[in-house]
Amino acid sequence: MSSQASIAIAQSVQLRAAVLLPLPLPQAYDYALPEGVVAKRGLLVRAPLGGRELIGVVWGKPEGGVASDKMRLAVPIDGLRLPPMLCDFIDWVARYTLSPPGAVLAQALRVRGVFDPEVPRKALIAGTIVPERMNPARERVRALMTDGLARVPSEIAELAGVSPGVVKGLADAGALKWVSLPEFEPCREPDGAFDAVKLSPDQLRAAEHLRDAVKKREFSVALLDGVTGSGKTEAYFEAVAEALSEGKQALILLPEIALTVQFLDRFEARFGCRPVEWHSDLSLRERKRAYRAVMRGEARVVVGARSALFLPFPKLGLIVVDEEHEHAYKQEEGVIYHARDMAVVRARLENCPIVLASATPSLETYVNAKIGRYEWLKLAHRHGAAEMPEVRLVDMRIDHGEPGQFLSPALRTALDNTLRAREQALLFLNRRGYAPLTLCTVCGRKETCRNCSAWMVEHRYKKRLVCHHCAYEIAIPERCPQCGAEHSYIACGPGVERVEEEFRAAFPDARVAVASSDTLFGPAQTQGAIRAFAVGEIDVIIGTQIVAKGHHFPRLTLAGIIDADLGGGAGDPRSAERSFQLLHQVAGRSGRGDRPGLVLIQTRNPEDPVMQALASQARDDFLEEEMRIRERSFIPPYGRLASLILAGEDALAVRETGRELALAAPKAQGLSVWGPAPAFYQVLRGRTRERLLVQAEKTIDIQGYIRAWLAEVKIPSSVHLTIDIDPISFF
Ligand SMILES: [Zn+2]
Ligand SMILES: [Zn+2]
Repeated sequence: MSSQASIAIAQSVQLRAAVLLPLPLPQAYDYALPEGVVAKRGLLVRAPLGGRELIGVVWGKPEGGVASDKMRLAVPIDGLRLPPMLCDFIDWVARYTLSPPGAVLAQALRVRGVFDPEVPRKALIAGTIVPERMNPARERVRALMTDGLARVPSEIAELAGVSPGVVKGLADAGALKWVSLPEFEPCREPDGAFDAVKLSPDQLRAAEHLRDAVKKREFSVALLDGVTGSGKTEAYFEAVAEALSEGKQALILLPEIALTVQFLDRFEARFGCRPVEWHSDLSLRERKRAYRAVMRGEARVVVGARSALFLPFPKLGLIVVDEEHEHAYKQEEGVIYHARDMAVVRARLENCPIVLASATPSLETYVNAKIGRYEWLKLAHRHGAAEMPEVRLVDMRIDHGEPGQFLSPALRTALDNTLRAREQALLFLNRRGYAPLTLCTVCGRKETCRNCSAWMVEHRYKKRLVCHHCAYEIAIPERCPQCGAEHSYIACGPGVERVEEEFRAAFPDARVAVASSDTLFGPAQTQGAIRAFAVGEIDVIIGTQIVAKGHHFPRLTLAGIIDADLGGGAGDPRSAERSFQLLHQVAGRSGRGDRPGLVLIQTRNPEDPVMQALASQARDDFLEEEMRIRERSFIPPYGRLASLILAGEDALAVRETGRELALAAPKAQGLSVWGPAPAFYQVLRGRTRERLLVQAEKTIDIQGYIRAWLAEVKIPSSVHLTIDIDPISFF
């Protein structure tokens, strides 16, 4: 058969393809494609489902089994296509997290209307016709428009100081001409040679290495391990510059909380313009613009939160995961994944290098660097004149103040010295609100949330008790509902608001602000406080972990940690690591400029290995000890974990399903199933929660095991099952 004839036959047969829809369905479904369409993987289509029309993606060959007369037609969207590598990535994430592929696809198609045709913006430019009647107003418009720029009518009216009628008149007369502009302004292109800063020898060595990795255009992982203030960002910016000169795109992931103005400013100083941003605070319009620019390859550098991992980069040449140890990289709802781990997977599929940066690497990453699987680039010194701060423990069993006070005499003295020297201090407490527990002094009743098994937290500014899990709130009761005593409630323990109160009483002249992630204040206000602190309008900032991350305050010389013993989660194998990372980050804010820094850590457990490691600044000793503990007990990275969490409003059904699941668990060598046990918060948002934990040796296919296990059990519709592979939260 001639090739001409075979084409003719191919075109006469209606083409079919499996189309994946962004829904939690178990598989892709077959659709017909219009004649002549080539069913390439990744092709975006509009596909009918029930009475709706959805955006879908051609995923592969037809599955078969749908009768021709039932087959519905999927229509391509302007030939747009997701990069096939992104499709492979979605399949990989789905398999690994045991999620339906469509649910993972939904992560990549989250922007409503992003594939709708662009709506051009109408604007006016100077026309060729000169109207017969001119007057001063018309003359002003003509003069304005001689620069040749396109403007919308309202802008012309405003700039020329004329009424809208004048502009309309000139347009009708042909003196101004309508033109169409693209819906979105093109992205500005970062310039790799804009302002290369002078790097220290350490930074230079790391930067050279990273540049080489980008040039090689193949998969590699580097741990950029630098002490706080060592200039990791400047070092990996060189890798970004290299990706730009190679004509590639670069993705920088930041934990959501650290997507700060400060970072964007540093980027702009290095590259001459801001990068494309991707995070939850963008408007729909901004998201559309960013998504399209990424897809067209015009967005050369994207700085984003974890969801940026699912953007359709056609030519990704570098991924950076900054603060790689951050738990904010774990998505805990819907598709549960760890963005750092999945970023390594995407880099491998794209065959490009990835850089993991941290001053306190996660144990997983540390071990990979140690055994040589990852390249280990160390920045051992602070940048410029800055030295590492001095760290002292304050034993709160001995060196405490009056009852009900949370600032020890040692910390008060240090604060006094700092304020006298006109330097700045940071007080850190990882607890929002005024007090974590509110108690009736007469009968001992504790106020708990009606939806969750959690205490209500007093917020004094608001005069309310608030649940930090479901946001349920009530007024502080005037009369105890249990014993009837009036005004019998007292606040137990400190929150940031209470520390502020104590601080103001002790230092009435100091300028102080509270920064917490609290929704009561909103992110804008928190950013405002951080900015005011950075420029020296505030002397002391009191904050939760939001102030611990990545900020650079050159005049900050004292960091006081109010309660270092917070943070150990019950049954959480990573609590020591987490505690160490957080406190180390806080300590790292101190003394980053040219003045020496001091860190005071208030604790009731000064002998604790975490406290000892912080005081002696012996990070690696701490990590080595953690490694030994985990190796002994087969905890990651020396073993594998997975959580199965059952939740539902029907407590009985949840417990019953938990028992059935446990009984149905197949016996396997090197693998144990623990539970069911009530989750740490047994009731959350009104739903009862039970959890099973699967612990396995490293070589075991834990996903395969769970898949086989769940195939044997029917989960009732009233019970919701969540699978968390590699859990890091044990709530
Ligand atoms: Zn009472
Ligand atoms: Zn609650």
